[in-house]
Amino acid sequence: MPAHIVEGFAGAVGNTPLIRLRRASEATGCEILGKAEFMNPGGSVKDRAALGIIEAAERDGRLTPGKPGVIVEGTAGNTGIGITLVANARGYRSIIVMPETQSREKIDFLRMIGADLRLVPALPYSDQGNYVHASRRLAGEMGAVHANQFDNPANGNAHEATTGPEIWDQTNGGVDAFTCSCGTGGTLAGVARALKSRKSSVRIVLADPLGSGLYAWVKTGQVKASEGNSITEGIGQAARVPGNLEGAPIDDAESIPDAEALEQVYALQSEEGISVGGSAGINVAAAIRVARAMGPGHTIVTILCDGAARYQSKLFNPEFLRGKGLPVPAWLEA
Ligand code: PMP
Repeated sequence: MPAHIVEGFAGAVGNTPLIRLRRASEATGCEILGKAEFMNPGGSVKDRAALGIIEAAERDGRLTPGKPGVIVEGTAGNTGIGITLVANARGYRSIIVMPETQSREKIDFLRMIGADLRLVPALPYSDQGNYVHASRRLAGEMGAVHANQFDNPANGNAHEATTGPEIWDQTNGGVDAFTCSCGTGGTLAGVARALKSRKSSVRIVLADPLGSGLYAWVKTGQVKASEGNSITEGIGQAARVPGNLEGAPIDDAESIPDAEALEQVYALQSEEGISVGGSAGINVAAAIRVARAMGPGHTIVTILCDGAARYQSKLFNPEFLRGKGLPVPAWLEA
């Protein structure tokens, strides 16, 4: 096959561009680079984890391409989209358990691509009705594969094998720091392991939304939710450390309020034509903080996890924003 042709959905996952973010770079005197994960075929960084988890289940013999198989997962949406698209490509079925509070766009997209979607109330992890427990129970009852992204090593391994080495190669080993928010922690842990094994001085910084306990965990060793809350989706853990993050080589953390993250989301879109979701805003805001702390001349890489269109009804909805006490971008005010 010619080098520029890839094989199907799986072949199109990864090898995303690393985009120089002009405004952030100029403001800090650093190179601030965003890994364009919104360009994956399912639209998010989670395509990599979904593919890695399904391929690991195939290697273990729990799934066989072409034979009926069911994958169940609890997800904020993006992993569900990745799993459903890989399942469609390989002849499996997906059952996606998701908190009903997630964006209308992700819910509609999952239905559109044929996921068997089970919306559940948004409950804390300590409650057995939480979407993660509900998905595990359902998989057990059905004898189906539970993707188990929070604690499945195949998630972080996918990033250690692909995202991290891509960042290393794209910067010619020049990366000085990496910032990333965590839902499962697969992206941060996998990239951190890949970069640290090549250059131990690379600074790994966890970016955390308000209301999450991972900032305190990095700073003190104890998970303690910070004051406030966030409209971002797919990131933050109020009360637990997912298995993926245990033992991950993390140097520091930044706690980022939504207003600071959304300023980046809106500026990236209106001044640079780069349209990303809220978690990418948290990541870029953290990269700017790290760049200021390290001083000019450094190369900071972060993750542009998914695209803004997935959150149109929230991040670009003046009524919703006003209701949350958040600033409304000028071009939406009219
Ligand atoms: N951003 C978005 C939009 C996501 O959906 C997720 C995954 N839930 C993340 C960031 C975090 O990625 P990870 O699970 O690898 O920590």
